Amino acid sequence: MPATAVSDVERAPRERLRALQLERLRGLVARLLEAVPVTRERLHNAGVRSGEDVGSLDDVRRLPFSTKADLREHYPFGLLAVPREELVRVHASSGTGGKATVVGYTRRDLDTWTEVMARCLTTAGVRPGMLVHNANGYGLFTGGLGFHQGAERLGATVVPVSGGFTERQVTLLHDLRAQVIFATPSYALHIGNALAEHGLGPDDLALEVGVFGGEPWTPAMGAAIERALGLAAVNMYGLSEMIGPGVAVQCLEVREGSHVNEDHFLAEVVDPQTGEPLPDGAEGELVFSTLTKEALPLLRYRTGDIASLDPAPCACGRTLARMGAVRGRRDEMLIVRGVNLYPSEVEHTLLHVEGVRPITSLWWSARRRSTSSRFAASRSTETSTARRSAPGSPTRCVSARASGSRSSCCRPAVSRAARGRRCGWSTTARADAFADFLED
Ligand SMILES: [Zn+2]
Repeated sequence: MPATAVSDVERAPRERLRALQLERLRGLVARLLEAVPVTRERLHNAGVRSGEDVGSLDDVRRLPFSTKADLREHYPFGLLAVPREELVRVHASSGTGGKATVVGYTRRDLDTWTEVMARCLTTAGVRPGMLVHNANGYGLFTGGLGFHQGAERLGATVVPVSGGFTERQVTLLHDLRAQVIFATPSYALHIGNALAEHGLGPDDLALEVGVFGGEPWTPAMGAAIERALGLAAVNMYGLSEMIGPGVAVQCLEVREGSHVNEDHFLAEVVDPQTGEPLPDGAEGELVFSTLTKEALPLLRYRTGDIASLDPAPCACGRTLARMGAVRGRRDEMLIVRGVNLYPSEVEHTLLHVEGVRPITSLWWSARRRSTSSRFAASRSTETSTARRSAPGSPTRCVSARASGSRSSCCRPAVSRAARGRRCGWSTTARADAFADFLED
């Protein structure tokens, strides 16, 4: 893979980064004490009267959490640290599982967001001059405008298609020769299926990279998207409460874990039950503090997402810690015969069953205790791929295509068990638990 440009802060020594984080965490605490009464009271209860009371980054564990319930309780603007008139933009979450949460941005917040998105997209392999097809919805959802701003900032040519009208998506991808697509992973797969229905395949498009976010996706789903669209699938992580997309992203070269923009977001992993910090590499609930936000600064925001953090340097040259794939949501976890099991693992396991192909991502509701399957049994996947290839030409490895390499697959051949260890999915215990779940 061609190396992506790495800025100074992305490759800074960890000590320098931690010093910057401490300085900014103190600033965050001072801002909250001054401007957000509900958080001020909690900080006072924790014995914190000024930003200087935070002696080291380890002191973060003494500070109070914030949650989605806080945003709902103080809906719509009760947690703002600036007068409402200073907002230049408002976005809102979809409100899944409750009332929508509203987030606001000052002009400087928008600039910060645009900058981290441009950095993330560079990390994902988007280069100036590339033609970018943005199939994320424009509107209250942060995906459309967030990706749009970042891509424009780095100098790409943006086609603001938004979501829906899938036939038009296929036509534009084909006619404009987009090299990059932004979408949710399930919508990318939907576009891939529409492409096949039109008798077209990846070789009819010019796509090289897809940057997908907005919902968790499994490695198996990513592989299905890569086959359908002929690109390298890169994960973007974010949440509107932090800023939107732009919190973390995979580097195109390595694609093992997503680099967190730690100069803007302080990341922790805590025990989902007790809230106690967990050591590096341990899986738990992701918690973020905004280090540079003006309008809606949040301290130790509990995301509900289950993942791990790895501060080891990456082969791409970045020293920013990497978060593992989001395994699921805290409130979706099942315990089957003593083993923790998330719906995403059901999807991952199903996609390893021969003859099963994904139509869209599995969406599962723990509250409703229902499973809405989005899979189709098909034994024609391989043959249809072969049919789309020109007679006599072997089907190319999509990863090799994205890198410009003509060699064989650039992903090392690993056993299924080893692959499970690398990506953190599908251990034997989980596969057994899944079988039990199906039997029940
Ligand atoms: Zn990397």
